[in-house]
Amino acid sequence: MSESELSGPDFQALFEAAPGLYLVLTPELTIVAASDAYLAATMTRRDEVLGRHLFDVFPDNPDDPEATGVRNLRASLDRVLAERRPDTMPVQKYDIRRPAAEGGTFEERHWSPVNSPVLGPGGEVRYIIHRVEDVTDYVRLEAHGSVMAAEIFQRQRDLDDANGRLRAANHELKALSERLQELDRLKTQFFANVSHEFRTPLTLMLGPLEELLAMDRTRLAPPARQLVMIAHRNSIRLLKLVNSLLDFSRLEAGRVEPAFQQVDLAALTTELAGQFRILCQRAGIRLVLNMPRMEEPAWVDRGMWERIVLNLLSNAVKFTFEGEIEVTLRRSISQRDVELVVRDTGSGIPPEELPLIFDRFHRVEQTVARSHEGTGIGLALVRELVTLHGGSVSVSSERGRGSTFTVRIPLGAAHLPQRAIRPAAPAPDQTRPYVEEAARWIEATEPEPSGDGRRGRPYVILAEDNADLRTYIRRLLDGRCEVHAVADGQAAFDAALARYPSLILTDVAMPRLDGFALLRKVRTEPALRGVPVIMVTSRADDAALAEGLEGGADDYLIKPFTARELIARVTKVLELGRAREALERIGGGPEQRNGS
Ligand code: ADP
Repeated sequence: MSESELSGPDFQALFEAAPGLYLVLTPELTIVAASDAYLAATMTRRDEVLGRHLFDVFPDNPDDPEATGVRNLRASLDRVLAERRPDTMPVQKYDIRRPAAEGGTFEERHWSPVNSPVLGPGGEVRYIIHRVEDVTDYVRLEAHGSVMAAEIFQRQRDLDDANGRLRAANHELKALSERLQELDRLKTQFFANVSHEFRTPLTLMLGPLEELLAMDRTRLAPPARQLVMIAHRNSIRLLKLVNSLLDFSRLEAGRVEPAFQQVDLAALTTELAGQFRILCQRAGIRLVLNMPRMEEPAWVDRGMWERIVLNLLSNAVKFTFEGEIEVTLRRSISQRDVELVVRDTGSGIPPEELPLIFDRFHRVEQTVARSHEGTGIGLALVRELVTLHGGSVSVSSERGRGSTFTVRIPLGAAHLPQRAIRPAAPAPDQTRPYVEEAARWIEATEPEPSGDGRRGRPYVILAEDNADLRTYIRRLLDGRCEVHAVADGQAAFDAALARYPSLILTDVAMPRLDGFALLRKVRTEPALRGVPVIMVTSRADDAALAEGLEGGADDYLIKPFTARELIARVTKVLELGRAREALERIGGGPEQRNGS
């Protein structure tokens, strides 16, 4: 140990090496001592600062017009001198000038200073110890923290806003959904009311028509009888439509009370399917029935089961042109259900349509069918009725190969509500409307005898898939024209190519080739371009009319039309056609059509 060490510690060395940032000032603020740490933190050297005035060494950053470091420090030091007590300053931004060698620019720094007086024997201030802590990192962190906090705050507010909007949207959606439900209910109610209203006038049409049909030949001669038959058949069709609408709306409104009874399903189904046998024979389709007797009884609502079978069977007839329709009743593999399988070798259903096929009002466009009549209610009704029985219905189909509909209903009565097991009220026969409707489709697709030898009159090709309407229009025109009636657009086109007609009178919705497509084909076929065309449509909307007029139709007949209207329009267009032909003969040049 050296002598000097023994004589006492080297206070200067200790002070300078102390682990803190210290500066010692005289009351005049001249720097008289500085710790190494202070010098390092402020990027200064001891020989540069000792003996100099504090603010000469540490001036404000001249580039920072808001710098308050000098002013705050002076105020604190003044307080120490006056009050002779330590003074803790709030955190100061007091930028440090880098050494000249490093460019002499200022570096942002934040400090936490404490100024403490060192008093002399008389209590006077001899020195001021200026101790600082470099809190730049804390301040930066804090600033960063507050930016983050602000961001989090903002995000939270955005989130709250979004939540608010979501709640409002939800509210709106709920209101909308309630409104939709209400509209749906009103629509169902409207259907129910309208359907109901239709039934009275329909009854008053059917009754008298049946009375007329019951008369003998002397009182109702054959031509009149045929007209009455058309009216009668179509009143029945209207009744069937109205009944299914009514049924459907009642089902949807939950206003149907099924009456489940133990029924010999094999016998009932055989009887129902048998009604289609003659029709199938006429249409050249085999009807195959597989109906083994079931050992375990099934409980069904008789009327509803009839609806299910009739709908599936009449669809099969509608879409099948050759091959067979097979109706099978069997136990399911699980033995718990009875299965009704209606399989046809008809036009089939495109795969993308299969999931939609049981939706109400859903119809597949462009399917090859015996008729384009339909509302899209049949299968929706089947599904509702099957569901009421605690069962399910499914379909598999291959385009061009056929379709198979399978109805599954649990056997026994354990799954049914006790109060619904009761005898049913007597109900009118439902089979006839279905069978008569199918008969019309088959008639519609049977080949018509062509040419009736009444040449010399205007030759009119009539394309209409509804057999009754075809017969009716043909009768109206028979005295005036030679009518060749066909069931679809393609047949009309072929007939026109075979013999140039004076007029084509065509329906719009038809199988194979519809009216618009027929019109396009006629107008682009050089041999037929000049043939006058009248379109018969039930689409009274402007778009449909425009489509026909643009396509070059000469006139329109909108269903329902009167006999007078039909004859007037046909006569007018025939006259126009004759005038056009005459002009051409005189040499009027290439024909100009104006489509009106
Ligand atoms: P609609 O017969 O009145 O159009 P449905 O609800 O009975 O209404 O049938 C809906 C659609 O399902 C039909 O338009 C038809 O395209 C299709 N469809 C139903 N049964 C068959 C079938 N056996 N073969 C082919 N398509 C069918």
